[in-house]
Amino acid sequence: MRQYLHTYQYFNTATLKNHIKNYNQSELAELFIGLGEQKFRAKQCFLALYQPSLQSFDQISTLPVSLRTKLSEAYSLFSIETGNVQVSDDGTRKFLFNLADGMAVESVLIPSELVADDGHPKRLTLCISSQVGCPLGCKFCATASLKLRRNLTVAEIVDQYLLAQQSTDKPITNIVFMGMGELMLNYDNVMKAVEIFTHPDLQLLGARHITISTAGILPGIMRMADENRSVKLAISLHATTNVLREKLMPISKAFTLQKLGDAIEYYYRKTHKPITYEYILFDGLNDSELDVQRLAKITRRVPSKVNVIPFHPIEFTNPEGFAAELTPTSKEKFQRFIARLKDAGVTVMIRSSSGEDIDAACGQLAFSRVAEQHN
Ligand code: SF4
Repeated sequence: MRQYLHTYQYFNTATLKNHIKNYNQSELAELFIGLGEQKFRAKQCFLALYQPSLQSFDQISTLPVSLRTKLSEAYSLFSIETGNVQVSDDGTRKFLFNLADGMAVESVLIPSELVADDGHPKRLTLCISSQVGCPLGCKFCATASLKLRRNLTVAEIVDQYLLAQQSTDKPITNIVFMGMGELMLNYDNVMKAVEIFTHPDLQLLGARHITISTAGILPGIMRMADENRSVKLAISLHATTNVLREKLMPISKAFTLQKLGDAIEYYYRKTHKPITYEYILFDGLNDSELDVQRLAKITRRVPSKVNVIPFHPIEFTNPEGFAAELTPTSKEKFQRFIARLKDAGVTVMIRSSSGEDIDAACGQLAFSRVAEQHN
């Protein structure tokens, strides 16, 4: 990646005020009543807060000046600020976002390879984080070495989108929760952020343009099913046997492939929405003919597709033990695996360019700058 030459500095880092975007519209209404304001002001404020061009309370011209002053004294408009932006040759942008308590997270903005008639990418996907670090300890994952620092707030999740959108004149078309963290462990804040992204009055994104990716936390999958959430669900699978999956993803000791399959069936029965499986290919571990057959069987349980992802080694985190043994499958074996999967009737998606790779899987989001900040 090339270093971007400038750093955005819109915001006052020193502020530890409450973040206004932690409140949804009805909570804002209560807040405004508490401030002695009329309820309809809350809706005016809510509509303005999520305009990507908004950079200060002063710009909310629908609110009286006295209220704008009151808000800016008590609340901060942005909960994060853009620390550094790197741009790769394929147009992918990686953002380092500083949090008010000195921590940091990353988001990645990925243009699609498909180009529309006007010459712009058809899709512009933002991969965002849900936690600072992650407690799940997946062996192929850079974020895992940070362990869990804390959950992100609603405002910190939403602001990743707003600041990334401010950096480009093209609309972000898709959001994937595949950055740092296991979002099912921060379910309430993630879903509250999703409700903002998909709020009909804001018209930011449709629910089918948002993907929730989990390592397979079954209570979260069941809850999504029961709540009939409209967003898409992706499962980080990466192995076709419990033995290997437990080695790669220790959380799967609690949530075996059988239990995961049952939860996915339950989800499909409730929502009728297809699933995406993410499958990183590791040399000699999960790329055999037997894996093809087992993966095909797993994917037949409900309508689904598989994203096959090349492994990006994470040497910069100094992996040890099993993590240090993981290597990418060769290009030839990668292609053969995909061809055999297709032969077995599986719908396969492949990510090839570097930016799309980052899009492809939870835990494959590079994070060296974040690691530096947290050490
Ligand atoms: S791959 Fe995802 S769930 Fe696993 S440790 Fe990394 S961030 Fe957490």
